Amino acid sequence: MTLSLDLTAEGARAMPRSLAAEEKPSLIGLSRAEMAEALVAAGVVPERQAKMRVQQLWHWLYVRGVSEFSQMFNISKDLRAALAEHFAIARPEIVEEQISTDGTRKWLFRFPPRGAGRPVEIETVYIPEEGRGTLCISSQVGCTLTCSFCHTGTQKLVRNLTAEEILAQLLTARDRLGDFPDRDTPAGAIVPAEGRKISNIVMMGMGEPLYNFEAVKTALLIASDGDGLALSKRRITLSTSGVVPEIYRTGEEIGVMLAISLHATNDDLRDLLVPINKKYPLKDLIEACRAYPGLSNAKRITFEYVMLKDVNDSIEDAKGLIKLLKGVPAKINLIPFNPWPGTNYQCSDWDTIEKFADFINNAGYASPIRTPRGRDILAACGQLKSDSERMRRVDRLALEAMMIAGHGEA
Ligand code: SAH
Ligand code: SF4
Repeated sequence: MTLSLDLTAEGARAMPRSLAAEEKPSLIGLSRAEMAEALVAAGVVPERQAKMRVQQLWHWLYVRGVSEFSQMFNISKDLRAALAEHFAIARPEIVEEQISTDGTRKWLFRFPPRGAGRPVEIETVYIPEEGRGTLCISSQVGCTLTCSFCHTGTQKLVRNLTAEEILAQLLTARDRLGDFPDRDTPAGAIVPAEGRKISNIVMMGMGEPLYNFEAVKTALLIASDGDGLALSKRRITLSTSGVVPEIYRTGEEIGVMLAISLHATNDDLRDLLVPINKKYPLKDLIEACRAYPGLSNAKRITFEYVMLKDVNDSIEDAKGLIKLLKGVPAKINLIPFNPWPGTNYQCSDWDTIEKFADFINNAGYASPIRTPRGRDILAACGQLKSDSERMRRVDRLALEAMMIAGHGEA
């Protein structure tokens, strides 16, 4: 059974005011220095107090997870009012929350247009497992790249998400799972038995995170800030189709775990499947992987490999994969292809996937086959009310399938 909560009517009234209604700049997604500058520039805080106020606000926003200034009890009433007059900290509108029988949750969030002409909607998926809970986050609405097996690739880029919107996915998911102090986890929720409800995040939702580098960097540095959200960088994985110059920058400036959407082991095939390969061919990609800082057996790069029938699933391909990754500390994630209407590809037969996995295992690589999660909410999403602002149903199905199948191993 699927539980689907439509929060547009009743529930939404109980939620913090929607960002769509807010025109004030948000404090979420600003670095400490930017926040200090904004507070002083607005005349809300004198310069000499800025550092101390930023510390206070940081704690309320990212440790306590409050979404209204009125809840910041150790800040004077006058200052809270001044902050509320100039700045926003509200959560985005939750258009819908769906919960699968296996505990997978999916939120449809709505953000203001910010130049895109109309409000945008994106999905965020939560996957609970034994001992960990993974949140799959989007970085763009649509994608400029055109990987031929990916449905997002057939959609135009609507716009980049801001650092605030990237973080808002994490903050709102933590609200809904009771993953902040003083919050209750909803009755019956499937979450890890101990520890944090969201212990890992993967940038594997919609979009190419390295084509939105600055916003992704800002958001991930805030997510991993030890005095705030405090997620270890070892538990954050960024997935890229292979934007080579930004892979170097990711290693130097962000330092999170890396996943590469590889999908082919020779340039001819990868040019077809992942066309950014024409710009950054395999040799350059693997060189960037080898140079990724801090790699060891305990800190490996994940290579994602979608299993496409008669395209990239032969034992020759498996051999090519082993040869290509020689000497790179690597994990291989085999992802059964999720078909979408209009695609020419098919998922490899189960037998073939198992043989491929066995070959790779025998060569000494862990190669889990990603089992699909939350199948029932994929089916159920056809039950969403139609709305001109919503993504087309086929787009949503493909995105959900991708997020759930592609989630990482971090
Ligand atoms: N744009 C980034 C991150 C998002 S894609 C990237 O390409 O890495 C997350 C993963 O899902 C990627 O490995 C992507 O190649 C894979 N994927 C895309 N479409 C898929 C499909 N139809 N079936 C299975 N996996 C898919
Ligand atoms: Fe974009 Fe990733 Fe899809 Fe390629 S696989 S089109 S990079 S979202």
